Amino acid sequence: MNGAQLWLKAAAVGVLAAALPLLIFGCGKNPECPQPADTTWPDKPGPKVVVSFAPLYCFTANVAGDDATVKNVMTSKGPHDFDPTEADMRLVTKADLFFVVGLKLDEKKAESMRDGSGNKQLRIVELGGMLDKKHLCESKCTHTDHTDHKHDKDPHVWLSPDHAIMLTNFIRDELKIADPDHAAGYEARAGAYVTKLKAIKTYGTEKLKDKKDNRLVSFHDSLAYFEEAFKLDVRGVLTKHPGQEPVAKEMSELIRLCTKKGAETRVIATEPQYSTSGSGEALRKELIAKGVVDPVLVELDPLETVKPEDLTLDWYEKKMRENLDALAKAMK
Ligand SMILES: [Zn+2]
Repeated sequence: MNGAQLWLKAAAVGVLAAALPLLIFGCGKNPECPQPADTTWPDKPGPKVVVSFAPLYCFTANVAGDDATVKNVMTSKGPHDFDPTEADMRLVTKADLFFVVGLKLDEKKAESMRDGSGNKQLRIVELGGMLDKKHLCESKCTHTDHTDHKHDKDPHVWLSPDHAIMLTNFIRDELKIADPDHAAGYEARAGAYVTKLKAIKTYGTEKLKDKKDNRLVSFHDSLAYFEEAFKLDVRGVLTKHPGQEPVAKEMSELIRLCTKKGAETRVIATEPQYSTSGSGEALRKELIAKGVVDPVLVELDPLETVKPEDLTLDWYEKKMRENLDALAKAMK
């Protein structure tokens, strides 16, 4: 089996696992399970940094340059579904820093990896948790039986270039503290990368600025910061947990929201990691039946998973542009 086939197989297992929540797929030593590409550290000075998943890899590796080594942990299973393997624990054994988003997304997994590795020196940095409260959104609540439960903060901060810039600057500061001799390098590379992140914001803003129809339904509750950055209007969320179909009550509430007079919503986001034939397509058909003109499914990647061979320094920029292109094509 080559890498692509392996990944496809792993993705198929992921879909199956999501569809059958009672079946637990422990990864352990199963060779079919996705493993980090390389769990060894090169023999060179400088901080050894692990990051939980792909966007943080791009932010960190761009700031690190040759002064620090950066390794990404999660690949075909993103932060909602990931379980650390023994190889992941080994990777953490020698690391100095572990960058995560936090906000109840991935910090527990990092802590369990640290505890499992016995590396008491490892510093886990919750980058999302360092954001000022005013920059954080509350998770969208799709409960129809509204009681006064507390809302968590939405962790999907990496999907806004504005927030990506703040995270990049936190990463720069952490690397400067860990490796003060190379402070000037971290400073310069962070500055250059922030320029690229600003260019993504400009790109998307430009692409979407003339759209009269900026309403959409999000696949899972991941688009609040993206919505804010690009002045979109996310009307609802299709599934509370990726892979879990909405219940009838949630579906009828979504249909009600999407058919509201003067605010008809025709763009329905799907995710490449999950089948589009389920709830997204069901909603699309319901909207056609209710007279919404030309409802479309559009694939928006929440950037939570990656094929290891695709993870280059410019992966985040490329994926963000792909999402913006897809959305601009779908919106009128
Ligand atoms: Zn998510």
